[in-house]
Amino acid sequence: MATASVGQIFEGMKAFRGSDQRVRLFRPWLNIDRLLRSALRLCLPSFDKAELLECIRRLVEVDKDWVPGSAGTSLYVRPVFIGNEPTLGVSCSTQALLYVILCPVGSYFPGGIMNPVSLLADPTFIRAWVGGVGDYKLGGNYAPTVFVQQQAKRKGCEQVLWLYGPDHQLTEVGTMNIFVYWTHEDGVLELVTPPLDGVILPGVVRQSLLDLAQSWGEFRVVERKITMKEVLRALEEGRVREIFGSGTACQVCPVHQILYEGKHLHIPTMENGPELILRFQEELKAIQYGTGAHEWMFPV
Ligand SMILES: *Cc1c(COP(=O)(O)O)cnc(C)c1O
Repeated sequence: MATASVGQIFEGMKAFRGSDQRVRLFRPWLNIDRLLRSALRLCLPSFDKAELLECIRRLVEVDKDWVPGSAGTSLYVRPVFIGNEPTLGVSCSTQALLYVILCPVGSYFPGGIMNPVSLLADPTFIRAWVGGVGDYKLGGNYAPTVFVQQQAKRKGCEQVLWLYGPDHQLTEVGTMNIFVYWTHEDGVLELVTPPLDGVILPGVVRQSLLDLAQSWGEFRVVERKITMKEVLRALEEGRVREIFGSGTACQVCPVHQILYEGKHLHIPTMENGPELILRFQEELKAIQYGTGAHEWMFPV
């Protein structure tokens, strides 16, 4: 029978093996909230969040021997929810399949050596727009990015810096959120990331970095639009300290170059430590692999 999978959504989170050998999921409630938001946006059936979390907990428990134990490793957890209504029309899915794939993953930065990435910033390609669905983890948001990623590779860049609007706002890096650590035009040291205005995916790591930085209270932490013009000026004036992406796969990933309007802009992230990136990585590692009952960790 023909099947129209109208809705296709997914999630990505990780389970870590603590130094006490216990396995814990990192902030899974945020992923499950996001999955339900995505489901409702695509008219997929609703589900009970606590019940899904219990299903995932039980699945990871059954497969817990697959959670690796060495530095930087984890078990990637990929819930998928697809409509499988046996009709060809475009309509609400009253029938859907929710499944979860697990996969042990190695360290994103083997040996602890952080490789910074170079980015292609080409405003002719747009990932998401106001009124669209870029702030949901829908399957349909990702297939169109593969071609652009290839263009970046062809131009010698590793990833895509997604720009938006006539003022070329920086929105995301590949499938990561973006952060800039700099001295703002007003002279104040700050960590800035774009606000959740509809074109930004509300990342779990993004939220975690904001939470950590806010708890330190050592510099301004702000959600505000960032434009290429502001970045160019800050680079000229030597105000940029670090630019980085955040996401479940890498946690925090330094950026050292942006190709924009035919020019290779050097970002001095690595020269500056990268102090903030290393601190975030250390703090996250302590929470994820620690033995203390941190409120962000959900024991399996
Ligand atoms: C998944 C994703 C992120 C990162 O989200 P995390 O929950 O931190 O992994 C950022 N941007 C896009 C476009 C994404 O798909």
